[in-house]
Amino acid sequence: MKKIDFILNLLSEEANDPITPAIFQTSNFRFRNVDLFREALSYEEHGLVYSRGNNPTLNTLADKLGALEGGRALLFSSGMGAISTAILSVARAGKHALCIEGAYSWTDKIFRVMLPHYGVDSEIVPGCEIIDHIRPETNLVYIESPLTKTFEVIDIKAVCEAAHRVGAIVMLDNSYSTPLLQRPLEMGVDVVLHSTTKYISGHSDAVGGVAICREDMYSQLFNNEFLAFGAIMSPFNAWLTLRGLRTLPVRMNHISNTAKHVIDFLQKHPQVEKVLYPGSHPAAQKKLFKQQMSGLSGLFTVVFKNKSPEFMKKFCESLHYFQMAVSWGGHESLLLPYSLWKSSENSGMARFSIGMEDSQTLISDLQDALDQFN
Ligand code: PLP
Repeated sequence: MKKIDFILNLLSEEANDPITPAIFQTSNFRFRNVDLFREALSYEEHGLVYSRGNNPTLNTLADKLGALEGGRALLFSSGMGAISTAILSVARAGKHALCIEGAYSWTDKIFRVMLPHYGVDSEIVPGCEIIDHIRPETNLVYIESPLTKTFEVIDIKAVCEAAHRVGAIVMLDNSYSTPLLQRPLEMGVDVVLHSTTKYISGHSDAVGGVAICREDMYSQLFNNEFLAFGAIMSPFNAWLTLRGLRTLPVRMNHISNTAKHVIDFLQKHPQVEKVLYPGSHPAAQKKLFKQQMSGLSGLFTVVFKNKSPEFMKKFCESLHYFQMAVSWGGHESLLLPYSLWKSSENSGMARFSIGMEDSQTLISDLQDALDQFN
């Protein structure tokens, strides 16, 4: 057996074939002779040396997520760990970076505040204008489709084609869809990002992130920003995420069906002005949604007719099954009143994350909370 194969096979030889993956709660790996140690150090990307680079528990999860998205995966301590590392691997002083307006707030902050500190010409524009803002010196285009407040979808293939014409890298946050509902690498995206905190781990018990890139970009990312910034996932969180991942298809199926029933109920309720979800906007959005995605997940925003803070407070506090919390994608249904951020555009708006409860339970909860205002 070649030495490098021996290093890779250490895991299976020592793992005793458990049904569930073992947790390798170790920071480093030992070598039994100098030649193997020397060889492993020169191939750190491929072997087990130090858990900031490779760890068998993390590698099992990375292999699965890479296979699901169709690329190579690197795991991080949070979604923002993945997003910031990926952005900093491409952004360069003197180059132009574009980000979609309405991206996740901390991602938006990187483009709005931090990249300019490093001399990057950073610009945030609405999704429908991104292509028009791509210039010869653009080297990074960052998108979310759908957005997770207003749920617009953008033409991913068209953005990728325009970006690639000037040699720019396209990154997309796929946390809403999971690899089961949208496969961005197949549409031309170069790096797909997820907060695994959300649906992928799925139980609100493990903060984590993943960057999944084209095969030919992996070595560059691993041997530079990934190892240097070191925002790695812990073996225990990787194990929890592996455990959650096993039920991802069943959970997404349930959540998607429940979300459709709940949205349908809310759209007909006299207290509701509109419900925002992917494809809910004009016809062009519906067409794109059908082309790019194979379904809805469980996140949507409700705009109520009554914009008063008193209405929102009473409504939120009347619910029994929807719990007030940030984040989303877990077992429990959640509610985030956007009116907590005092700006007139947020009044009367709340974001819902559908969990694993049954649709009738959730609809009855909403009905009781809303009917008191009729
Ligand atoms: N992307 C989206 C769309 C999010 O909603 C979030 C967090 O809420 C993140 C990224 C960041 O993920 P994390 O909280 O795991 O760092």
